[in-house]
Amino acid sequence: DLDSAAAPLPSVSKSNIGHRWSDITSYATKKKVQCWFQRPNGNWELGRVISTSGTESVISLPDGKVLKVNSDSLIPANPDILDGVDDLMQLSYLNEPSVLFNLQYRYKQDMIYTKAGPVLVAINPFKKVPLYGNDYIEAYKNKSIESPHVYAIADTAIREMTRDEVNQSIIISGESGAGKTETAKIAMQYLAVLGGGSGIEYEILKTNPILEAFGNAKTLRNDNSSRFGKLIEIHFSETGKISGAKIQTFLLEKSRVVQCAEGERSYHIFYQLCAGAPRALREKLNLKDVDEYKYLKQSNCYSITGVNDAEHFHIVKEALDIVHVSKEDQESVFAMLAAVLWLGNVSFTIIDNENHVEAVQDESLINVAKLIGCDAADLNLALSTRKMRVGSDNIVQKLTLSQAIETRDALAKSIYAGLFEWLVEQINKSLAVGKRLTGRSISILDIYGFESFDRNSFEQFCINYANERLQQHFNRHLFKLEQEEYIQDGIDWAKVDFDDNQDCLHLFEKKPLGLLSLLNEESTFPNGTDYTFANKLKQHLNSNHCFKGEREKAFSVSHFAGEVTYDTTGFLEKNRDLLHLDSIQLLSSCSCHLPKAFASNMLNQSETPVVGPLHKAGGADSQKLSVVTKFKGQLFQLMQRLESTTPHFIRCIKPNNFQSPGSYEQGLVLQQLRCCGVLEVVRISRSGYPTRMPHQKFAKRLGFLRIHEIVHCMAFYVFKAALEDTELAVTLRSFKEALPPYNHLSEEIKPGKNMLSY
Ligand code: ATP
Ligand code: MG
Repeated sequence: DLDSAAAPLPSVSKSNIGHRWSDITSYATKKKVQCWFQRPNGNWELGRVISTSGTESVISLPDGKVLKVNSDSLIPANPDILDGVDDLMQLSYLNEPSVLFNLQYRYKQDMIYTKAGPVLVAINPFKKVPLYGNDYIEAYKNKSIESPHVYAIADTAIREMTRDEVNQSIIISGESGAGKTETAKIAMQYLAVLGGGSGIEYEILKTNPILEAFGNAKTLRNDNSSRFGKLIEIHFSETGKISGAKIQTFLLEKSRVVQCAEGERSYHIFYQLCAGAPRALREKLNLKDVDEYKYLKQSNCYSITGVNDAEHFHIVKEALDIVHVSKEDQESVFAMLAAVLWLGNVSFTIIDNENHVEAVQDESLINVAKLIGCDAADLNLALSTRKMRVGSDNIVQKLTLSQAIETRDALAKSIYAGLFEWLVEQINKSLAVGKRLTGRSISILDIYGFESFDRNSFEQFCINYANERLQQHFNRHLFKLEQEEYIQDGIDWAKVDFDDNQDCLHLFEKKPLGLLSLLNEESTFPNGTDYTFANKLKQHLNSNHCFKGEREKAFSVSHFAGEVTYDTTGFLEKNRDLLHLDSIQLLSSCSCHLPKAFASNMLNQSETPVVGPLHKAGGADSQKLSVVTKFKGQLFQLMQRLESTTPHFIRCIKPNNFQSPGSYEQGLVLQQLRCCGVLEVVRISRSGYPTRMPHQKFAKRLGFLRIHEIVHCMAFYVFKAALEDTELAVTLRSFKEALPPYNHLSEEIKPGKNMLSY
């Protein structure tokens, strides 16, 4: 049964293969060792080498089949004894199939956490796993469990914060649906238990249901997808108790309020309100069922399997109580939500032969006016006309149907985004009562991961830019610093190159000829269009190897995680994000305090204050900071903040695209591992040193020995390593730190200058 139709040579790059098969061929055949063989479908299977001659090997597979394959297509597998190790660094052969197998081996047994050197890899179980709760928290606190866990990461963060007096950060990344938000909550729970006592921890935990209700939505990828980025900074007092917290959010996806794809939903809170509002509130807000609102109706999806929206509404209300949002304010919040929904139902009639319109005077218009506290006639004017200054005259221009719809949707988006911002502000006020935010802190970052869809727009552009920045932070810490540690240890080793993403960041940030600058420049031109923007990019950026002009309005960027093609349709408009002054003025004239607050927030964010009926015809209404400028500013601030902390990285992995438990797709997992550089991190962390032992463990094992016994003991490790065909290196620093009494060691054992090597 000789089958030579083996898979083509696998696409294994040098960077993630420790050993080539040819390195160990003779040994392999002698011992019939295991090897990885790639099936035509891309999946790896374990085989055994029966014989090798020339460039061909004969291997047997578990199903009894025997294949003749190109020896170079085989990849060495680890001995069984290393199955399911809890740190990938312990693998003798660090190659992609071995890593995939190890993670899968553990995942099958609900061990969803694995260390990859300094990084924690978390694979989404898509089901309840028995790994959480007070007993586990206690166990991690007492160190009676040592297996990798988010709790262990949070514990290390607390310990290092106290020991080194340095702020800490837990940086969680991964694709949509990979489990970032759940992981962040798990970390928060641990911190809350260990740092609890003042009661503020309870408030901090309750921010989660609020922010999820207002900032999460069902998408095709995740039933509870966060549509904003979040950094929560949890502060501790000197006694190690939580003293307060601060939340910063990034770039909420506003467009979802007025538009969302088939099968997706708008923000949870709309459905929760419609399902859960008690009768009195329903009447007050004139609430209807979800399917009566156009904004909710368009995507044809109202519910989420297994989720009770009405129940969630009560959870959110309770949480609002706990973070001290008063009942009156809560009612105003709900009124704003209802206003947004009713605004979507406002329609227009054409009033002349130039396609100019007026809002239809129906229930929708009247309800919106009532809910935000303005005159229906004023609302109508704000939606159907625009005040302009032409020369020295103020004129009123009537809007066409499409302009009016755009104005209406822009108002709806602004009210919602204003509401979200206002809520975060209230929460922050509640979490930072007095001046308690002075001690040390642990920040948890849960930010959208790299996105690459069939069609990528402005949102993906911003998200991927943010990820590029974060990746640089990751690289700096895990590659540069790790390398420095080796040098410090006096280890003679070949410097390992890693994918530096500086060129891509340059492409975005360079002034004046970078993606962001050019986008801003084009956004300020009254005649700028997505076309002229795309052409400018092609004209100026072609020399950067990370950039590629594409057909028509598209361009591609080579991100660290892969190439993404962006369609510039809507870029300028989304970047300008203009709310016409008429709308802002309408909001500030409202009798309800929330729209007033939103309007003043919007004006405060402008570069220069906006006044009066403004500007030339067709021009921008306000000198507002562009969206990317604001975002870049936030991002730089974030990076600065993170730079001053000791980072702990958690990489979440989505094992399948169906949100279903038990299914582990090798290709999908591999792509995510590659994309976030996990393999390189492990490779660097143990470059040339497959067996690394933590100092404590080393001390525990060797601490009771005398010097000659240590030498014997080391000989044992060398022997074991030889049996397993691994390499062993023990640095002198390990010895010294592990065994203070043997500080004189360097004089006595001297195979190398600072290192014992075999
Ligand atoms: P997005 O970028 O879309 O916000 P995300 O990475 O934040 O995605 P989560 O919302 O955290 O993803 O996770 C998606 C779903 O996966 C959760 O709603 C939950 O059902 C499941 N899940 C994630 N982590 C765990 C876990 N540790 N235990 C059980 N289920 C989990
Ligand atoms: Mg999330």
